[in-house]
Amino acid sequence: MKLKNTLLIAAFFATFINGFSQTVKDEKILAQIRTEGFLNTQVMNMLEELSDVYGQRLTGSREYYAAAQWMSNKMKESGLQNVRFENYCDNCRGWSMKSFNVEMIAPNFMHINAYPLAMAKSSNGIVEGEVIHIKSFRNMDALRAEYSGKLNGKVILLGSEPAKKLLTGDVQKRYTDDELDKMEDKLVPKTKQTPLPDLFEGWKTSDVYDKEFLEFVESEGALAVLKSRSILLGILHPDGTYYYQNGVLKPLPYFTIMPEHFGRLARMIKLGVTPKIRLNLETEFYDEQSNNVNIIGELTGTDSKLKSETILIGAHFDSWHAGTGATDNGANSVVLVEALRILKAIGYKPKRTLRMGLWGGEEQAFLGSAAYARQHFGGLLEKPNNASKKISAYLNLDNGAGAIRGLYLQNNELARPVFEDVFKAIANLSEGALTIENTLSTDHETFDHYNIPAFQFIQDELAYGNVTHHTQLDVLEYVPEEDIMKNAVILAWTIYKLSENEEMVPRKVLD
Ligand SMILES: [Zn+2]
Repeated sequence: MKLKNTLLIAAFFATFINGFSQTVKDEKILAQIRTEGFLNTQVMNMLEELSDVYGQRLTGSREYYAAAQWMSNKMKESGLQNVRFENYCDNCRGWSMKSFNVEMIAPNFMHINAYPLAMAKSSNGIVEGEVIHIKSFRNMDALRAEYSGKLNGKVILLGSEPAKKLLTGDVQKRYTDDELDKMEDKLVPKTKQTPLPDLFEGWKTSDVYDKEFLEFVESEGALAVLKSRSILLGILHPDGTYYYQNGVLKPLPYFTIMPEHFGRLARMIKLGVTPKIRLNLETEFYDEQSNNVNIIGELTGTDSKLKSETILIGAHFDSWHAGTGATDNGANSVVLVEALRILKAIGYKPKRTLRMGLWGGEEQAFLGSAAYARQHFGGLLEKPNNASKKISAYLNLDNGAGAIRGLYLQNNELARPVFEDVFKAIANLSEGALTIENTLSTDHETFDHYNIPAFQFIQDELAYGNVTHHTQLDVLEYVPEEDIMKNAVILAWTIYKLSENEEMVPRKVLD
């Protein structure tokens, strides 16, 4: 009896001392992370070079691959181990822009602010045609009946005249305390998640919504299609064509133009004046499957018991082609590298393996992350394999360049205490708002499907939703250095904590 008591007391003190020494270690590591991340920061230097020198990183393109090579070298220079490419697509074609111009030449001259949509074909040199306004292709039968024989040599203005909706209020939005509180107060998620196989199946039809229309107008001899979106201030959205695979449609010259120019053309037609357009587009298609790579790297775990377990962090590396992908998703891509660079630089030996993945093809259909998951965790319709059970958590960053204010728990209430503990020590860097809410439309959905605890951070929106997202203004000017420095420090601290914890992050209990 006496011996048992003594043992119990000894065990209690051992736990207490362990806990105490872990706290001392945590405090020291946090100070070192802050020193490296704020005083020796590399994050903005990396982003400048990535976005200004390498620019757009459209899935399948040579530009993507050149940027991936540069990035993998940065990862090696930063001390990451097992840096490698893993191919994610064997049927994703390449497309690059060479030259384009769009002008109105009658009734007088106006240079049109335009950008080609991805995967559009070259025009037949410089071409000229009258504008015809087609407001909708919802009813293709009616459209065929109305326009057969009338489109030869025409430039089609497609869609309704954009609403005259000017940006109002602050262009740069940050969450208020009240908004964060409301997110935390949610008891159940309001956003429902579609099972991944159903989501992918749905995209197969929704992504090619304009195919029949484009084929019809081309067969009728139309020269080009011009369309727009309803955010004024000259913002161009050349996203949203998903003809990325070999063998599928190559759309005729297809441009987005600025809404103000669309409005002028549409109003002139209403007044009975027919504007004339001169344009050219030169693009190049190629079949280079070696461009289609995810970039993987890690700091390998060192604890004999825990090194087989992994904390996985990810961000998509591809972008649309009009800006330089600085906010979507260059900033977050370099934040991942910077977080691991910081931990390496301070000499931290992770207990669990800290692995990062930069995914290609997110903008198309989560191609990169889905391929990684299939390769490592089993087929989409199979039961997740044992390797998936060794992933403690997947953390994703893909909400622009704004500061991290907390985390979407993605319907995993059991993970709340883990992240409360993570954010407690860095209250002066982030509110650490934890919401049970699901956020969707990016790569953490892939890992969630495999029942890996998968999360995405809550980030300040800044000008992401209204100005930079998929536009020609997705450039470095909209990335505040302080925000991404902070994010790298927060991420480094978060993965340090998850690596040190005794237990893996709890998984959702599936019914
Ligand atoms: Zn993105």
